[in-house]
Amino acid sequence: MNYQEADHIRMLREMLQKFVENEMPRELAREWDQTNEYPAEVFAKLAELGVTGMTVPEEYGGSGRDIQATMITIEELSRRSMAVAVPYIMATCYAGMNLVECGSEAQKTEMLPRVASGDLLFAYGLTEPDVGADLASVRTTVVRDGDELVINGSKRFCSGAEICDYIYTLACSDKEGERYQNLSFVMIPPDTAGVTIERIATMGMHGAATTDVTFTNVRVPASLLMGGDAGWNNGWKMLAGPGLDVEKLEVAAIAIGVAAAAVEDAWEYSQERRQFGKPICTYQSIRHKLADMQTKLHAARLMTYHAASLLQQGQAAGVETSMTKMFATEAAKELALECQTIMGAYGYVKEFDAERYVREAIVLPIFGGSTAIHLNNISNWMGLPKR
Ligand SMILES: Cc1cc2nc3c(=O)[nH]c(=O)nc-3n(C[C@H](O)[C@H](O)[C@H](O)COP(=O)(O)OP(=O)(O)OC[C@H]3O[C@@H](n4cnc5c(N)ncnc54)[C@H](O)[C@@H]3O)c2cc1C
Repeated sequence: MNYQEADHIRMLREMLQKFVENEMPRELAREWDQTNEYPAEVFAKLAELGVTGMTVPEEYGGSGRDIQATMITIEELSRRSMAVAVPYIMATCYAGMNLVECGSEAQKTEMLPRVASGDLLFAYGLTEPDVGADLASVRTTVVRDGDELVINGSKRFCSGAEICDYIYTLACSDKEGERYQNLSFVMIPPDTAGVTIERIATMGMHGAATTDVTFTNVRVPASLLMGGDAGWNNGWKMLAGPGLDVEKLEVAAIAIGVAAAAVEDAWEYSQERRQFGKPICTYQSIRHKLADMQTKLHAARLMTYHAASLLQQGQAAGVETSMTKMFATEAAKELALECQTIMGAYGYVKEFDAERYVREAIVLPIFGGSTAIHLNNISNWMGLPKR
C-alpha cells in the first residue's frame, strides 16, 4: 500500500526490514519464542542503527523525539519477534519517554544518553495480584527514610524484569492521602537486596519474560524517585500524562506488526497450497477473507499513523489513541485467527508461525488498557451521558 511516507520514514522502514531479514531470521525468532530468552547481542546490533535514540532529544544524545518513526520501528520488529520488539519498547518508550516527560534534570542527564545508546531498559511494575485496570489502588508502598526509599509489596505480570536496568514501580507513597494524590514512581534495580523475581508461564510475548516481582524492605537511594523530590505523590500525573497516549500506540504498533505478518503468510500460503486441482486463493471464500484482512490491516495502520502524527504535533489525542489501540488489537486477534484458518491444519503446528501469531495477538486487547476500558473512555470522553 502507498502510505505516502516521508523519505526518512521510508528509508527507516527499508533499513529495518533488511535488519530483520539478516539478524532476526524466522528460525531464530522461533528459537527465542521456545526458550523465552532475550537475544541481547541482536538488540545491541539494533541499537547500533541509532533507533533507540528516537525518543531522546538531541541535547541528551538522541536524534530527537519522533513518535511516528518509533511506532514504525515497533511495527517492523513485531512482524518477526517480540523478543526484540518488547525490549525496544522497554528502552525507547518505558525508559525514554518517561524520563523525558517526568525525569528531573539530573536523571535526564545521567540516564537519557544510556537510553539513546540502547543501554538502559525499564520494566513496568504497575499491575499487582489484586490490582489490574484500577491502578490507583496499588498496595505496594514506598516510604522515605533519610536519603533512602524503602519499598514493600508485590508486582504481577512484570515483563522484562530479569533483563531491565530498573523496574519502574508504581507505589503508594501516602496511605492516608487522597486517591490519585498518593502515588509515586520509583526506579528499582532488579538486583537490589530484597527483590525476588519469578517467571510466570505465559502463552506468548516470550523473550522479555513475564514475572512476579516481590519487594521485601528494598532500599534504594532517594535519587531514584522519578522526578526527584518533586515526584513525591505525583505518580498519577506521570502515569496519566501524555506518555499514556503513546503507550496505547505502542500496543497498536505491535498489533499491526503481528497482523501484517499473519496476512503476508496467509497470502503466500493461499497461492502455494493446491486443492481440487487449483490454488486455494482461487476460491471465493479464501479471496474474500484475504481482501477483508488486507482492508482491516490498512485501516489499523492509517489509524495508528494518524494518531502518531497528532501526538508528534503535541495535540491531545486521548480519544483517537484509545480508538486506535482498541481497533488495531482486536483486528490483530481476528486476522491472526483468520490466517490460521486459511492455513488449515498447518496453521496449528509449531513448524509454521501462524500459531505463534495467534498466541501473540490474543494478549494485545488485554494490556495497555483492555478493550472494555477503552470503550468506557471513548464514550465518556466523547460526552455520552451516563444517566
Ligand atoms: C503477557 C502479559 C504481559 C504483561 N506485562 C505487564 C507489564 O510489563 N507490566 C504491568 O504492570 N502489567 C503487565 N501486564 C498486566 C496487564 O497490564 C493487565 O493484565 C491489565 O492491566 C488488565 O488487568 P487484569 O488482567 O488484572 O484485568 P482486570 O482489571 O481484573 O479486568 C478483568 C476483566 O474485567 C474488565 N474490566 C475491568 N474493569 C472494568 C471496567 N471499569 N469497565 C468494564 N470492564 C472492566 C476488563 O476489561 C477485563 O475483561 C501484562 C499482562 C500479560 C498477560
